[in-house]
Parts: sequence; C-alpha cells; structure tokens
Amino acid sequence: MPSLEHELAIALAAVREAGRLCQAVQAGLDPGALTKGDRSPVTIADFGSQALICGSLAEAFPEDPVIAEEDAAALRRPDAAPTRDRVVAEVARLRPAPDPETVLGWIDHGNASAASPRFWALDPIDGTKGFLRGDQYAVALALILDGRFALGVLGCPNLDPGALADGKIRSAAAAGGSLVYGIPGQGAWLLPLADPTARPSALRVSRQSDIRLARCCESVEAAHTAHGTSAKVSAALGIRVPATRVDSQAKYAAVAAGAAEAYLRLPSKPGYVEKIWDHAAGTAVVCAAGGQVTDIAGRPLDLGHGRLLASNRGVVVTNGRLHAAMLGAIDQVLGAE
Ligand code: AMP
Ligand code: MG
Repeated sequence: MPSLEHELAIALAAVREAGRLCQAVQAGLDPGALTKGDRSPVTIADFGSQALICGSLAEAFPEDPVIAEEDAAALRRPDAAPTRDRVVAEVARLRPAPDPETVLGWIDHGNASAASPRFWALDPIDGTKGFLRGDQYAVALALILDGRFALGVLGCPNLDPGALADGKIRSAAAAGGSLVYGIPGQGAWLLPLADPTARPSALRVSRQSDIRLARCCESVEAAHTAHGTSAKVSAALGIRVPATRVDSQAKYAAVAAGAAEAYLRLPSKPGYVEKIWDHAAGTAVVCAAGGQVTDIAGRPLDLGHGRLLASNRGVVVTNGRLHAAMLGAIDQVLGAE
C-alpha cells in the first residue's frame, strides 16, 4: 500500500475548506423561516462544497476520476443564474475570485460514474435534511484503490470533537466541529475541524463485547432506514437503550470513535440501492478504527459498480466484536416480518 501522505494532506485541506463554506451558509440560515420544500441554502452549500473539493483534487491529481453526487448541468440553465451567482460568491470568499465557468468546471470534475483502479467518491453535503434543520451533516471524501477503501475523510461541522473523544455523540454546548479520517491498516484519527495546527488523536472502536450494552445509532429520517425493524432487532438482542438518531455519516464517526457500537441502516423502501458517496468515506474510517461494515446479508460493500452499491442491501456498521450477533438478529427479525 502506498503511503498516501500527499493524498491525505490534500483531502484534509479540501474537506476543511468545504466545511468552512458549509458552516458559513448554515450560519446564515433560519430553519424556521424556510418554507417547506425550499432547499436553496443546502443547494448552494452542496455545489460550493463540491466545487472546492473537486477543484483541489483536479489540481493535485488531474488524472483521478471523482464520483460525486452533484453535477453542474442544473446550474448552467439560464433560470439558475441567481443560484449560480450565490455558489460562485460563496466559493470566492475562500478562493481568489474564480470566474463562474471555472467553478462550474470544478463541479463537473466530479461527474465520473464508473469504478476504476483509482478513484475518489465525494458527498459534498451528506445529510442535507440535517443541514436544513441546523443539525448534523458531513462532507465525505474517500479514495478507492483497486476496489478497496484506501482513505476516508469526514468533515462534521456540528460534531463536537471534545464530546467524541469522551465517547459521546452529543455535546452540551455548540462546538467547532470534527475532522475524522482513517487509512485502513494504518489507523484513524480525530482533529478539530477549525484548527489545522492541532495534533491528531487516535480513534479506536469500542471494546464492548456484551451485545445487550450496545449503543446503536440510525438515521433521523424514517424514509432512509426502517426504524420499526431496528427497534425489533434491539429488542431481540436485549438492548434497552433506544437508538440515537443522527443525520449523515456522522454516525460512522461515532462508531469509529467508540461513541456507539453500531449503526444500522435497514432498507425502508423495496428496491432502494445505496449510493457509494453515502458510505465510502465512513466505511474507510470505521475499518481503519478497527470496526466492521457489511450489508444486512453480511457481504462487504462492493465498490465495483460506480455510483451505486448495486450488489448490497442496507448497511450494518459495528465495532467488529458485535457484528455477528447484530447480523444474526437482523436475519431473524427480517425473516419474521
Ligand atoms: P442519513 O443522513 O443517514 O439519513 O442519510 C442521508 C442519505 O440518505 C442521503 O445522502 C441520500 O442519498 C440517502 N437516501 C435517500 N433515500 C434513501 C432511502 N430510501 N434509503 C436509504 N438512503 C436514502
Ligand atoms: Mg448523502
């Protein structure tokens, strides 16, 4: 395995910068004033985040394909001019005045769709619903080499690094956000998102081996995971504490840091296929911290299908020690449903 030092440095700096853009947009947002269905703030932050990260990757690694969630086609339409201008303005706060065409070109650098021996996967804002609620969201970037998770970086602007280091997901006070990253085989680390000079602290999954004491987390959104099924799984295992609901891949950060033993994503809609950018960075981080990630049938996530995790169904993330018990209970509950 190559050292990936350069890749890591570029990825950390890019995710940090995108996190600053997202924080600036979220700070100007009044969740109460948004009309239902108005997603414009998250749209601006989403495109801005993708522009900054893909721009950095295009400059440092011009040959590397990037499979990212967004593309700029919608922004090129004449009626999208106000949105495009806002995206360019947000990017210009962090980079010397780029022209609009350059920004759109950066966004489109992320429009690869096929897997290749070396590629990046990017979710510029994972957890858009959390972003709009003023809650958790993540900027998630992964490098995939020969079908393996090589590097994952999660920028979580609302996840308190102090609480995480203490094994907690929620903090008492607002804090500056966390940068969680990992290289499977080398380790996983935590940094404060806002301080590039801080020393990283090593992360390790929880050593808990008593399944009854497992702390689980799951999506806030009922459309993204079957809350009722996971409650049955917990009951079958004798777990008494209800799952903590958290938006975005911050859930993977929680398992990697030992703040939760498991994250269950149980299919809520027949036929839904998970997207690579929703899981690649998180999986790299959890595996690097000593945990395990499979789908609900116990299959490793197959990164060979480009944008979709087409040969997987649902996702099960644990500290490793509890994986087999969790899969067994899921199988039992789904069999009875
Ligand atoms: P979370 O914040 O964990 O709820 O995950 C957010 C992600 O869920 C988004 O980035 C979407 O790509 C993804 N998503 C959308 N619809 C579904 C679905 N029906 N099942 C699972 N994930 C979904
Ligand atoms: Mg997402």
